[in-house]
Amino acid sequence: MSRKKIGVIGAGTAGLHLGLYLRQHDVDVTIFTDRKPEDYAGMRLLNTVAHHAVTCDRETALGVNHWPGDKWGYFGHYYYIGVGPQPLRFFGDLHAPSRAIDYRIYQPRLMADFLARGGKIEYREIKGEDVLSISAGFDVVVVCTGKGPFGQLFQLDAAHSPFDRPQRALCVGLFKGIKENPIRAVRMSFAPGAGEMIEIPTWTFNGLSTALVMENHIGGDLEILSKVKYDENPRAFLDLLIEKLRKHYPDCAALIDEKEFDLANSPLDILQGGVTPTVRKSHIVLEDGKLAIALGDVHSVVDPVLGQGANAASYAAVILAEEIVKQNVYDERFIELVNNRRNDRVLGASRWTNFMLMGLKELQPEFAQFIGALSQNRTLADIFTDNFNYPEKQWDVFASLSRMQSWLEETSSQSPLNISLAANDRRVSDLLAANA
Ligand SMILES: Cc1cc2nc3c(=O)[nH]c(=O)nc-3n(C[C@H](O)[C@H](O)[C@H](O)COP(=O)(O)OP(=O)(O)OC[C@H]3O[C@@H](n4cnc5c(N)ncnc54)[C@H](O)[C@@H]3O)c2cc1C
Repeated sequence: MSRKKIGVIGAGTAGLHLGLYLRQHDVDVTIFTDRKPEDYAGMRLLNTVAHHAVTCDRETALGVNHWPGDKWGYFGHYYYIGVGPQPLRFFGDLHAPSRAIDYRIYQPRLMADFLARGGKIEYREIKGEDVLSISAGFDVVVVCTGKGPFGQLFQLDAAHSPFDRPQRALCVGLFKGIKENPIRAVRMSFAPGAGEMIEIPTWTFNGLSTALVMENHIGGDLEILSKVKYDENPRAFLDLLIEKLRKHYPDCAALIDEKEFDLANSPLDILQGGVTPTVRKSHIVLEDGKLAIALGDVHSVVDPVLGQGANAASYAAVILAEEIVKQNVYDERFIELVNNRRNDRVLGASRWTNFMLMGLKELQPEFAQFIGALSQNRTLADIFTDNFNYPEKQWDVFASLSRMQSWLEETSSQSPLNISLAANDRRVSDLLAANA
């Protein structure tokens, strides 16, 4: 059989991890992308991505873990739940460090690795009508162009897409002037009725910074942070931010050195907007009979509140790559086998994230009780924290109230959910459906 040839549109984590795996197995790979490595340093912040240990392990296997966790990583999650006069605070450990590198550093570095290993990159913007002509030169075309409009090539999977608009008004930035916590860790803070905030120790051009991922409730007190422009008046923006942090996220505010507090590198370190969580069909059959396969955010885009998108994209990329290497026929049966392997995690990440978006919005009673149980029991907190590596395991816990109850009983020998399960088991799906 002649050497396999795979075309990949998009050089994000999905395209790069796919391409790097295929190069390890001597597959001929060309990535088409609209950004050159040298473009990244001058770009606006792309996102604030934490890779969990399972993804770092994949990078080690691909030979691209340039930032080992013991030096660059963080080790657990602090949790802050702002309920009433006595907020809940607790900590959970990760079994191995997660790690966040500014993607404006990460992606060009992996593009260089890919090129050094014999991968080819063509730099140009691809339009929908180009896919068929690209397909002519390859056995399969994989489309991983991220959450932008190109992915609309693939039909919406309505059964897994309960929302038609963003569920949070995001304000995301890389900041300096926030002191480190005693343990290098993420802090997840929940301010019921106002928002959630994830603080991530993140390495950027100027060294270690803090990513603040502000997930502001639409119509709430924090929504304004997604609208006020830093560029128009940096001091006014920072003052407003400090005021809101003091009110809703006091543990973060307490660590701020006001003289130093600012964006970490430049005015480009801030991103505002929203993400509509969406799942799309896994593939299309092109007019020439070949497959175009959706991967990464093109297949499933999630709100960033739980840090799952890139981790799921990497997982799915390596599964797709393994199947490309293993199989010789790329037809509907091929994609069925790929989907059987990737979907539990990809859909698990989507469902769990959507569930948490709704559960956290007003801190639903069963969810509040669940978090209360975590706060009282370190074993539960550790397992919950480490399961950020395995979103399908989180969905095993959260898919119904019976499961939440059963997990708490099995894991802690207690039964802390004081609710009638028979009457309430519907409510998990209702939480999602009510907001569809
Ligand atoms: C604020 C924020 C925080 C996040 N935090 C996390 C986190 O902590 N953990 C996590 O796992 N995920 C996180 N995510 C999600 C994560 O960023 C995405 O899931 C991930 O980057 C998707 O990877 P991808 O390869 O599918 O797409 P992308 O990384 O978006 O890559 C798309 C590629 O396609 C190229 N491209 C696009 N259009 C074209 C075109 N027409 N022609 C040619 N090339 C094109 C782009 O240049 C790029 O190379 C976060 C997202 C946001 C917005």
